[in-house]
Amino acid sequence: MEQVSAQRNTSVDDEPPLTQMGVDYRLSTPSATRFGASESSLFRKQFFPSTNLTQWNDWHWQLFHRITTTEQLLRFLEPTEEERAALQRSDWQFPFSVTPYYLSLMHLKDPNDPLRKTVIPHIAESIVSAGEAIDPLAEDHTSPVPGIVHRYPDRALFLATSFCSVYCRYCTRSRLVGGHTEALEEYWEHALSYLEAHTEIRDVIISGGDPLTLSDERLSLLLARFKRMKHIQMLRIGTKVPFVLPQRITPALVKVLKSYRPLYINIHAIHPNELSPASRQACNRLADAGIVLGSQTVLLKGVNDSVSVMTELFHQLLTVRVKPYYLFQCDPIVGSSHFRTSIAKGKEIMDGLRGHTSGLAIPYYVVDTPGGGGKVPILPEYEMAHDRTGYCLRNYEGRTFVYPDYPEES
Ligand SMILES: *Cc1c(COP(=O)(O)O)cnc(C)c1O
Repeated sequence: MEQVSAQRNTSVDDEPPLTQMGVDYRLSTPSATRFGASESSLFRKQFFPSTNLTQWNDWHWQLFHRITTTEQLLRFLEPTEEERAALQRSDWQFPFSVTPYYLSLMHLKDPNDPLRKTVIPHIAESIVSAGEAIDPLAEDHTSPVPGIVHRYPDRALFLATSFCSVYCRYCTRSRLVGGHTEALEEYWEHALSYLEAHTEIRDVIISGGDPLTLSDERLSLLLARFKRMKHIQMLRIGTKVPFVLPQRITPALVKVLKSYRPLYINIHAIHPNELSPASRQACNRLADAGIVLGSQTVLLKGVNDSVSVMTELFHQLLTVRVKPYYLFQCDPIVGSSHFRTSIAKGKEIMDGLRGHTSGLAIPYYVVDTPGGGGKVPILPEYEMAHDRTGYCLRNYEGRTFVYPDYPEES
C-alpha cells in the first residue's frame, strides 16, 4: 500500500507548473501505443481483425464485446501489479466493464493513462479511509420508494436502470449499479406512480445506471409516460453514453428523444481524450435535435486535476455545444481516497479558469455534502474584505478593486 501511494504522489508531483498551461503531458501522444480518437480503426484491426466498421459502429456489438474479466483484459494490456491484485480479488463488490470503443481511446501501454485509471480496478480501492461511506450522500434515506431520490422540494431523481456500459471506479452509486438491473426495473411502476402523485415535482432527472443504455422502446415508453404528467415541466437525462458508447446515439434514438420537450442531457465528461470524432458526432446529433447539453465532471486525482486539462476539456465540450454545468468534488465513497483531491485543489482549478477563459467554459464547483445536505457551491476567495462602505474584490490577475456598497435602508 505504501508503494501504491508513493507512486500516486509522484504522478501528481510530476505535474507541470501552471506556467506551462496548455502543454500538458497527459494530452501528448507519447508513442505508437495510443490508438486514440481518430485511430480507433487501427485498434479494431489489431484486436478485432474480423470485425468490420459497420459492426464496430453498432452499439449492440460494443455492448456484446464489453471487457468484463481479467482474461479478456489481458488481450489488450498488461495490468500493473496494483491492477492485477484488484482484478484477482474474489470478493468484488463492484463489477468491472469497459467497451472496446472506450478502451480504444487509451494509451494501452501507459498505466498512467487518465481514462484507464478511471475504469480498471486498482487495489487502492480496498483501502477504507476516514469519512468514507457506502452511501455518502445518504440517498437511500431520501428514497421514498425504490428508484426515486427525492431530496429537493421541486425535483427528483429517477434511477431508471442499474446498468452502465462502462463502470467508473469512483461512482457515487457503486452500491447500486451493475448486476441488479432486473431488481431496479421492476420498480419502474412504483417509482412512476410516486412521480405522478407528487405534483410538487416539476423537474425529473432520469439517471441510474445509464438510462441511455435502455432500448429505444423502453425510453419511448418512459418519455410518453412523463409527457402525460402535466406537473412535470422538464426532463433531464444523466448519461455517459455519448463518451463511452457514442454508437448508441443513433438517428432512431435521437427521434425518440426529440419526442419530449424540453429535454436536457447532462453528459458525464472527465477528460479531453474522451472527445473523439465518434463522441463529437454523438453530441452534435443531440444538439441538432434541440436537446440542451450540459456536462458533469468529477474532479479526479491524477486524471484531470490540473488547470490545463480542465481548460482543454471545457473548451472541447463547448465546441460540440456542451455547456460545462457541474464540477464535482469526488464523493467519499468507500475506497475512493486515491481518486480524491483536496478541496483546495478544486478551488485552485476554479481560480485558474475564471477570467482566464470564456465564462461559458466555467462550471459550478460543488461538494455534494455527506449526509444528504445536497450540493453546496465552492468558490475561490474573491471577497478580500468588506465594510459599510464597500467590498474589496480580487480579480483573476490578483489585483484588488473596490465596489461601493452600503447597507440597504429598511
Ligand atoms: C444533483 C441532484 C439534483 C439536481 O440538482 P440541480 O442542482 O438542480 O442540478 C436533484 N436531486 C438530487 C438527489 C441530486 O443529487
